[in-house]
Parts: sequence; structure tokens; C-alpha cells
Amino acid sequence: MSLLTEPRSETVDLGPAAALSCRECGQRYPLSPIFACTDCFGPLEIAYDLPTGQPEELRRRIEAGPNSIWRYAPLLPVPADVAGKPNLNPGGTPLVRADRLAAELGVTGELHVKDDSGNPTHSFKDRVVACAVEAARAFGFTTLSCSSTGNLAGAVGAAAARAGLRSCVFIPHDLEQAKVTAAAVYGGELVGIEGSYDDVNRFCSELIGDPAGEDWGFVNVNLRPYYAEGSKTLAYEICEQLGWRLPDQLVVPIASGSQLTKIDKALRELIALGLVEDKPYKIFGAQAEGCSPVSQAFKAGQDVIRPVRPATIAKSLAIGNPADGPYVLDIARRTGGAVEDVTDEQIVAAIKLLARTEGIFAETAGGVTVGVTRKLLEDGVLDPSLTTVVLNTGEGLKTLDAVSPTTSPTAVIRPDLDAFRAAGLG
Ligand SMILES: *Cc1c(COP(=O)(O)O)cnc(C)c1O
Ligand SMILES: [Zn+2]
Repeated sequence: MSLLTEPRSETVDLGPAAALSCRECGQRYPLSPIFACTDCFGPLEIAYDLPTGQPEELRRRIEAGPNSIWRYAPLLPVPADVAGKPNLNPGGTPLVRADRLAAELGVTGELHVKDDSGNPTHSFKDRVVACAVEAARAFGFTTLSCSSTGNLAGAVGAAAARAGLRSCVFIPHDLEQAKVTAAAVYGGELVGIEGSYDDVNRFCSELIGDPAGEDWGFVNVNLRPYYAEGSKTLAYEICEQLGWRLPDQLVVPIASGSQLTKIDKALRELIALGLVEDKPYKIFGAQAEGCSPVSQAFKAGQDVIRPVRPATIAKSLAIGNPADGPYVLDIARRTGGAVEDVTDEQIVAAIKLLARTEGIFAETAGGVTVGVTRKLLEDGVLDPSLTTVVLNTGEGLKTLDAVSPTTSPTAVIRPDLDAFRAAGLG
């Protein structure tokens, strides 16, 4: 287990990243490929030397940057010349003003969908992987690996191909065919594990301690502190696209809970840096009922997350033992938000609602956030008069099976007008 205790470098260039710091006890460590505190086993996160005191200058620097996550390089654990390296340049995805969806849901304030399906491998995972690649380069790893619920496998395969790294990724054996194909096509090694995502994850933790996995950068295990920071860019983009404004309410999907915790971290950073006005915001977490350990704990008023065995069509969110679950509970409670879940039927209905009203075809994770938004509005938990941002984190073509049984052509007819009229269309 030498990797876990001996930092391999004290002088890596990861831009403003200064150290690793324990979320529980605050113990600091030099930047290295470790993820847990040796004193208390708490998760490690990046501590920064951020450019304080010059908000106007920082804002100008960001606005003059590339139309990708690298415009926020001054706030990420990446070297300053990152944009010039071979990578997939994710981010810069649209914030869609969703007036027609708002009308159907009874929202009178501003409703926006942050549509992250247009990233290079069609999910938000390109953001986190791009940051992990920079850490892998800095620490000299030549193999990139991960445990994945599907989207991460494709994002790692593609990013490794572009960066000229080897990849070997692990997935549950029963994923959607589109996600398996969209990961295997990049030519890296793809291994199906007979078990759930949580089994895959446990296996990867074992592999890290074994000579077979030594010198591997697991983006969501030993590189997790660096990887996780990529999620901050979702929140930076949302605020910049709102004209450097905080939204009042955000609805965010939960798998491990990492993305939600980093969105909160990013919003607090923007306030601390003076890039947005200091005002309250609420963060709402969204899960599928068939894998809702965080939502169950929230609703029961408990602090402990009881692991579950996932059974839902929202496979990208199917993590039964979410590592950041307790922090998600803290954030939902501290900001005045909530955590809610929806059934598979409600997920499918929400995918179709978003497609019909806004022309956005979301994967099941987007059905979860839109479905939860609807439910929270109906229950009077979300305020319909405020500015609300709902995240769609993936592309509908990857989860066709979710909607294909209930979605078909209106009619199939001969190419003549009589047939057209006979079908009731003319
Ligand atoms: C991975 C993933 C998430 C969120 O993951 P966290 O582990 O909670 O950060 C959300 N949506 C999609 C589509 C994903 O693939
Ligand atoms: Zn600690």
C-alpha cells in the first residue's frame, strides 16, 4: 500500500492547487495520488491558493479564456498551460431558458436547464475526467482506470485515447448496450464485472493495493480529489451564463454525491472571490426511487446512509453506497434544500416532458432531475417564483431502452395521400 502513504512528488505543477486537505480533521498532505486521511480516514480534497482581492481582473481573465472548462483553470488543480495539451476540452455547454417547461410545471420565475449532454462523450463525466488526466500526467501515471456506472467508462476511454495514455476500465456486466459500445470503441481495455457498481468499486480499491494496479491512475479512487474538482465547472458556467449571478435553487442528480458537493463548493468559492453577490441559494438532490439511500436518509431525518441494492432504469445514478452521501445531507440541510426521489415511470414521463417542451433528449439521469423538480413543485418544496436551474447530465441516445417501449411512430403508411388521410392525419 505504498501509494497510500508515500507521496510520490512534493513539487507537481497543478496550478493554484496547494495541498490536499482532510474534509473531516483538516490535516494537510502534499499533492499526491492519495484520497483518504491516514489519521481519520476522512476524504481528501484540494486546498487552493486562490487569487483573492481582484474580482474584476479574475472575471476578465475568465471571460477571455477558451470556451471550455479551461477558462476556469485559475480555480482548478491543473497547470496554467492546460488548454494547449491534447485533451477533449469539455464544457461550454448551453444553459437553456426553459419557458415552455416552466409553463407546464407552473413555474413563474426563471427556469433553466443546464444541458450537459453535448460534451465530447455526451455526459458531464468529461469535465471530471479532464481534470483527472492532468493529475495523471503530473504524477506520471501511464494507465488511466476507473470503476464506472457507464458514462465514466466512455469518458475515460476517450480522454486516454486523446492524451495517448493506456486505459483499463471496469463496469458492471449488465449495463446499457449503448454505454458498453460507446466505451469499448475507444480501443482501451473494458472489463465487465459480475456484480453491481458497488462490487466493481470494491474490486478497484483492492486492485490499487495490488502490484497489478500499481502505477495506475484510477480517476475516481486514487485521483478522486483531483477528478472531483471538475464538477465545480458546472456551477461556474451556470453563474457566468446567468450574468455572474447565483441561481436561487438548483436541482442536481446524485450518484456518489460528488457532483452535488462540488457544486456547493464552487458556489461558495465564487462568493468568497467576489465574482457573484453573496446571497442564499438552495441545493436539491435528485435520486431514482430504486436507488435512493440519500433521499431515504434525508426524509427520515437521519445522518447515516443505509446502503441499498440498486434496481432502477437510471443506471448512471445507481450507486447503492454513495461515498459523499453524508455531505450531500449536510448541504441540503444547510442551504434549506431537500433530497427527493422519483419512480422509473416518473423518470420516463419526465424525459418525454423535457423532450416535448424544450427539444432536449435527456438520459435517465435527466429524467430523474426533471421528475424530482416536478414533484418538489407539486409538494410546495421548490418555490415556483424564483430562478431555478435543473441539471441534465447525459444524452438520451445512451438510454434508448428507457423510452423505446412507449415511444413509436404515429403511423406507418403507404406513400399516398389517401393513406395519409385514412390514418387521420390530413
Ligand atoms: C456520474 C453521473 C452523475 C453524478 O455522479 P456523482 O457520482 O454524484 O458525482 C450524474 N449524471 C450522470 C449522467 C452521471 O453519469
Ligand atoms: Zn483526517
